[in-house]
Amino acid sequence: MLRAASGSTAGHPGPRRDPSRPSVLPVPSPGTTSATLLLNATFEPLCVVSSRRAIVLVLADKAVPVDSAADVVHAATVSLAVPVVVRLTRYVRVPYPSSVPLSRRAVFTRDGQTCVYCGGSATSIDHVVPRSRGGTHTWDNVVAACRRCNHTKADRSLAELGWALPHPPRTPTGAAWRLLGHRTVDPRWREWLGMPESVSA
Ligand SMILES: [Zn+2]
Repeated sequence: MLRAASGSTAGHPGPRRDPSRPSVLPVPSPGTTSATLLLNATFEPLCVVSSRRAIVLVLADKAVPVDSAADVVHAATVSLAVPVVVRLTRYVRVPYPSSVPLSRRAVFTRDGQTCVYCGGSATSIDHVVPRSRGGTHTWDNVVAACRRCNHTKADRSLAELGWALPHPPRTPTGAAWRLLGHRTVDPRWREWLGMPESVSA
C-alpha cells in the first residue's frame, strides 16, 4: 500500500480526501503555474489566461506550447506539461487601447518600485505638480514615491524644494504594458514581454 509521496493522485479514482479540488488539474506541486501568457501567432503578447484555459487551447490545436513548467497534466488520453507560455496557431486581430490605464501598480512598475526622488522603496503615488495646484492625474504627472518624500513634498512644487526628477514621467507604451495592470508577471514571461529583468510587477 505504500506509495511514493509525490502528492499526486491523478488518474486514481479512489481517494475522496479532497472533493473540493478541481478534477482536471493534478494536485499542484511547488512551481505549478496557474496563469499562462498567451501570445498571438506573431509572438506578440496578447493577454494572461488561466493555465487550464491554455491547456484547453493546446488540446484543441488552437495554440502550441512555447514554454512549459515541469508539472504535467494528465487528461483522458494525453499528458501535457503545464504551459507557461502558449502561442495561438492562427493570428487574431486585436484592437489595442491607445493608452495604458493609469493604476497604482502600473506606476510602481514603470518606476521600478522605487521612489523617483530618493531611490527608496516606493509606497505611494505622488503628483509632481500637486493636485491642489492644478496638477492632473495623468501619466506625465504621476510618479512612485516613498512616504517620507511624499510627506515632505506635500503641496510644494519641485522648484520650491530644489528637487529634480531623473527624467520626465512618461506614458508607457507597448503590448507588454497592457498585461501589467492586473497580474503578477511570471519571470518566465519576461523575454516575451520585452521587459528588463529588474522590473517586477
Ligand atoms: Zn523618497
